[in-house]
Amino acid sequence: MTRRIKALLSLLLCTAALSGCSANQPKSSLSFQAMDTFMKLDVYGGSADEIKDEILRLDKLLSVTDPQSDIYTLNQSKSAEVDDVTAELARRSLELCRATDGALDVTVLPVVEEWGFISGEYKIPSAQTLNSLLGSIDYTKVSVTGNTITLPSDAKIDFGATAKGFAADRAVELLKSSGATGAILNLGGTVAAYGQKPGSDGWRVGIADPENTAAYIGYITCRDKIIATSGGYERCFEGEDGKTYCHIIDPKTGLPADNGLLSVTVISDSGTLSDALSTALFVMGAEKAAEYAKSCGDFDFVMLTADGRAIASAGAAQSFTPAQGYDIRLETVS
Ligand code: ADP
Ligand code: MG
Repeated sequence: MTRRIKALLSLLLCTAALSGCSANQPKSSLSFQAMDTFMKLDVYGGSADEIKDEILRLDKLLSVTDPQSDIYTLNQSKSAEVDDVTAELARRSLELCRATDGALDVTVLPVVEEWGFISGEYKIPSAQTLNSLLGSIDYTKVSVTGNTITLPSDAKIDFGATAKGFAADRAVELLKSSGATGAILNLGGTVAAYGQKPGSDGWRVGIADPENTAAYIGYITCRDKIIATSGGYERCFEGEDGKTYCHIIDPKTGLPADNGLLSVTVISDSGTLSDALSTALFVMGAEKAAEYAKSCGDFDFVMLTADGRAIASAGAAQSFTPAQGYDIRLETVS
């Protein structure tokens, strides 16, 4: 079992325990694998089935490795007519690439592949290889017209950084239209906390301890929010040089982001935004990320740094409770 799968399993188990289960509420629960991770859905007063079906449908459309998918086809032919949801995700992701000035860049795939993060055959690319691949990374050259997406001949696209958040948004739409009373949906590190938790004011969503991902440093209490965490501890490998390399890439250098952050958690009304920003702020590093948050305040965040700091927005600090045994003092910036 890989470290990532172990971490996700423990995350799911802990979320299950935290979400609790009150008497007298019909609960529909499903656990399954999709989007290269484990997912667990708990829906109160409604069914989890159609949410699972929608997530599996999105997974089939968005996979970079499934030859039947929209994204695989697009990466091969460089121009393709895609499903409505793929086109919508592409438009939304490109907006977020612009909004983060390219810290999020959906064309980073060739470099992600070169490091082996897709195949699992990890390697450190040579500076020369990275330099030549960097020329193909530029989200501004991707065009979406109606349902047609077009890429330059050397480019490849990947929505790995936004797909789970987007899936969470679709799931929330389904929860709303089905009339479910509440739900906690864990899409492998991206969690939708919807509606009423039976017998409680809010859902508690844990923030993993990057040093021991089976444990939480604390919890965010919230409802009707989507919380995404990007961590350097997920999908990483140790090179022969003894350094750890993680799967979040700085699109400007082609190197794994290494700005002194261990994890970034983003809390907002939109899953796509939370997912995109958890990745983008991780690339920016604490200082730039705090500046960015000041300039557009439609989200809350908690950033854990390698030197032991926990930096949070005022809103996140208000809803944060440290876990037992963790003496966490949040530094607030807003
Ligand atoms: P996770 O998949 O662990 O939830 P993220 O949401 O941070 O993590 O997404 C990371 C994935 O997105 C990587 O596996 C890679 O495919 C892709 N990616 C890595 N760096 C970037 C980046 N700077 N911009 C866009 N996508 C990225
Ligand atoms: Mg992300």
